[in-house]
Amino acid sequence: MEPGIKEIQNLKNTCYINSIVQLISHVWPLKEVFCDVLEKNAIPENLELLNLFHQLCNEIWSEDRVRIKPEAFVKKCFTLSPYFVQYTQQDSQEFLMVFLDKLDQELISCHPRGFSIITDTFKGAFTNEIKCTACSFTSEKTEAFLQLDLPIPENAPPIRTIDCLMSAKETMMISESQHGLFSSLISVFTKEKATLNLYYCLKAFFQEQSTEAYCQQCQCHKPHIIRPRLSEPPKYLLISLKRFKYKFWSTKVSDNVFVPKNLNSAHFSSLGYEYSLSAVIEHNGFVSRGHYKIYLNNFGTWWLLDDNKVRKVPWEDVFNAQAYICMYIRKDICQRIVVEGSESVYCHKNISMPMRFMSRDEE
Ligand SMILES: [Zn+2]
Repeated sequence: MEPGIKEIQNLKNTCYINSIVQLISHVWPLKEVFCDVLEKNAIPENLELLNLFHQLCNEIWSEDRVRIKPEAFVKKCFTLSPYFVQYTQQDSQEFLMVFLDKLDQELISCHPRGFSIITDTFKGAFTNEIKCTACSFTSEKTEAFLQLDLPIPENAPPIRTIDCLMSAKETMMISESQHGLFSSLISVFTKEKATLNLYYCLKAFFQEQSTEAYCQQCQCHKPHIIRPRLSEPPKYLLISLKRFKYKFWSTKVSDNVFVPKNLNSAHFSSLGYEYSLSAVIEHNGFVSRGHYKIYLNNFGTWWLLDDNKVRKVPWEDVFNAQAYICMYIRKDICQRIVVEGSESVYCHKNISMPMRFMSRDEE
């Protein structure tokens, strides 16, 4: 087993925690902080979550072959929110947000200038342009996000050949290899399960909406058009899909949403930023009974980490996953690595941290 790829024991319904631990420990700036910058004896003892995750992250990236049993960490996680009832099934997306928030607070508190590595890594923003259709008066409102929670459009558009070709070009990099073109096209046309792709969800999120609102210029309520656009692209783009619906009772949208390997924000917003897929968390099952596992790209190889079952998988398995959360890295902060016998991959550049955490001597 290589560094970064470790089995984590399921301590009874804790797959939602395990999948997030695997995800966050593979976010390169955080991995650097936990494995290279932040020294164990420099973390104040009262920052329990930070201490426990530091230990966990170092176990994951150690050279040793160990199966991780995260008992203390899991117990701490149950205390993060009253919703996380011990050893019951929970939503990994909710856990992700709570976990990042608490980890952020503890990380900030031991940085001399209060720098937030979590914000620096995940924060993006979208701007709503709000235009009065009567007088064209326009205003803007910007909202920050740490993750985009996307709707899954109910009426999936029928697959058109051009969509398939575009997806193939986006996801399989056919332009790079004549040989790959043929097999890529065949595989696209045989993947009929993938009726929806992430672009449809992104387009649904960023689509124009009409609304009635007060216009400062007309001085009365008038129809307005809201145009959202991505105004600040995060370094790491976290996307979750609204799979769980609450309407009288809870239901799950089980449609497969095809997740492209390469994502270009120009296809759903005005800014053209290129992203590369680095992880997909899958949810199998129903609302009340389900299971989480994660597909991770570790230096060009896709791995399936399913608690204590860990194995290499072909890209097709990631493609066919019932994606729930996915993570993309912005390519301009990456270096491209050519792996022999496989396609090139994007990995985070080794960056020198714009930070120095407090060491015990300085206290
Ligand atoms: Zn107006």
